[in-house]
Amino acid sequence: MPDPILENLRAVHARIADACRAAGRPDGSVTLVAVSKTKPVADLAAALAAGQVDLGENYAQELRDKADDPALRGVTWHFIGALQTNKAKLVAPRATLVHDVDRMELAFELGRRVGATHAGPRTIGVLIGVNIGEEPQKSGVLPKDALALAADFALVPGVRLRGLMCIPPADADPRPHFERLRELRDDGRARGLPLDELSMGMSHDYDVAIACGATLVRVGSAIFGARRRPVPADAHGSPDDPGR
Ligand SMILES: *Cc1c(COP(=O)(O)O)cnc(C)c1O
Repeated sequence: MPDPILENLRAVHARIADACRAAGRPDGSVTLVAVSKTKPVADLAAALAAGQVDLGENYAQELRDKADDPALRGVTWHFIGALQTNKAKLVAPRATLVHDVDRMELAFELGRRVGATHAGPRTIGVLIGVNIGEEPQKSGVLPKDALALAADFALVPGVRLRGLMCIPPADADPRPHFERLRELRDDGRARGLPLDELSMGMSHDYDVAIACGATLVRVGSAIFGARRRPVPADAHGSPDDPGR
């Protein structure tokens, strides 16, 4: 019997390649982050065995437990959810990239907790989470404030700013929101800010996101199957309900 996770990964990679081709972008200009939240370690291990190294989690304790599991050695961890400052210590030593950082306090705490390795001090990559639809209930910095925050992040020890991230409003056409995030990124780059990455696109819209310039897509259910609890409309979640 074919392994469904392997089959799904192949299908998602094929669709990413198609979207890159259609947009005139080179193969390999998009990194697939397989979102494994709520899924058992065996499913993640199957993805890893199939060559899927980048995995995303959105709940701090769950990321800690999975990252410390010997069966998942070799994974590059992405933290993609809203993060409480007091949980930064669980994420910072384990994640390579934190996608949804929207305040200085959290950036400082991530940098402080990232820790050193035998190879010297580690840095942690961060993306600024932008509330691109300016929805009152959502976390994320407002678009008009994003580049000022990006400039401030350059001052935070241990933290390396890499780009911007968004989740468009549910039930809306995502394209104008993805385009707006890209314009913001391009404005920031023109001002010399280190904004190479654009994290946008989920199972239902990653091809649109790639057409709009996404460099990281966060795809969960199209790879691992439906989760028991659906992602709520506000997928950023509140700190106590991380949108699982
Ligand atoms: C859960 C989640 C995803 C993946 O959602 P799917 O619809 O399952 O692809 C992407 N980004 C964030 C921030 C999430 O919380």
